[in-house]
Amino acid sequence: MQRFDGDLTRQEGLPEASIERAIELLRTGRLHRYQTGEHESEAAALEREFAAWQGSPYCIACTSGGYALFLSLLAFGLEPGEPVLTNAYTLAPVPGSIAHAGGRAVLVECDDDTVIDLADLERKITQSGARVLMLSHMRGHLVDMGLLQDLLDAHGVALIEDCAHTMGASWNGTRSGNFGLAACFSTQTYKHINSGEGGLLITRDKTLAARATVASGSYMLYERHGSGPQAEDFADAKFEMPNCSGRLDELRAAILRPQLADLDAQVMRWGERYRALEAVLRRGNALRLRERPPQEQFVGSSLQFRVPRASAAQCETLVSVARARGVELKWFGAPQPHGYTSRHSSWRYVDSQSLPATERVLSTLFDIRIPLTISAADCELIGEIILASVSEATS
Ligand SMILES: *Cc1c(COP(=O)(O)O)cnc(C)c1O
Repeated sequence: MQRFDGDLTRQEGLPEASIERAIELLRTGRLHRYQTGEHESEAAALEREFAAWQGSPYCIACTSGGYALFLSLLAFGLEPGEPVLTNAYTLAPVPGSIAHAGGRAVLVECDDDTVIDLADLERKITQSGARVLMLSHMRGHLVDMGLLQDLLDAHGVALIEDCAHTMGASWNGTRSGNFGLAACFSTQTYKHINSGEGGLLITRDKTLAARATVASGSYMLYERHGSGPQAEDFADAKFEMPNCSGRLDELRAAILRPQLADLDAQVMRWGERYRALEAVLRRGNALRLRERPPQEQFVGSSLQFRVPRASAAQCETLVSVARARGVELKWFGAPQPHGYTSRHSSWRYVDSQSLPATERVLSTLFDIRIPLTISAADCELIGEIILASVSEATS
């Protein structure tokens, strides 16, 4: 029987440039972004470079992707108890950030391709009167962004994008993250650039940028922030925004900058691996993979498939048969939250909501990570193992 002996949770080491810069910084002890005197801080340089790479005017670096989501809602001016639309199919940092910002998550169904269901979104915009959608591009899948924008514009709803899985992706040539008022990225180890933990908030709105900067812990040092709005744009923010320190430190900013420079090349490498795995899985009649829309340029750092006719018991068998052959699959239909799978019913801080379409899709949805430490040939082997495991589990 074929077996995969690699490790789907192992990341590549960091570039030498990151390591050298980290050691230099440790020798100086200058790890706080506002402490660097006349030099541009690493954090400010990262913000400037990431904003330029994205093509967005402002970037605020912070301690995690989830913190960036929370910060964006705070800076948006969310009122206590205000509704926030978001995907029912997402991971816990998203509803978590809404809860921490004092909002009330209104969960929107996904369609068979796992992207947000625009008909359900329109219904819930009308029912809830929400001013904002926090849209998770879950597992790197983009909904038709043109149709989405038309819908949000028609109802005057602001968009905050959760780009934890779409750093480097685009729709019709526009980078994911540039469609709305603000967007949030994660630099946690399992995302597309790795500082262990970290977050990046981007926005076109200078007031939101100023409010987020002060809230994230600039104190009155915002003029030393480096890459932010003009001093006069902080006139109200400096008095209005409660501090909740979540600044990015110099060490993490320093190790991220060389990785950002490599990101486009890494996206190509993910694409090769994704396509190799996808080509094998498409041979399986029992599996359903999304046809990736031609407008979508995605980052293939993970792959999802459904086995629509499988029972819950067969899904459980599939996970264990694949695991015995060295392939760790995540099943989003598991009754108990496990690993990074998370279902709305396990978020007890969110009002209980009826989401039959999402539950049906998640009940047979599987996910596999594609780290860059594995090769395209490994991906073919993994694909063969998945096909054999599906046959065995469903026969
Ligand atoms: C990872 C992730 C985040 C942010 O996570 P942090 O661990 O807080 O950086 C947000 N949304 C999704 C969908 C994620 O997977």
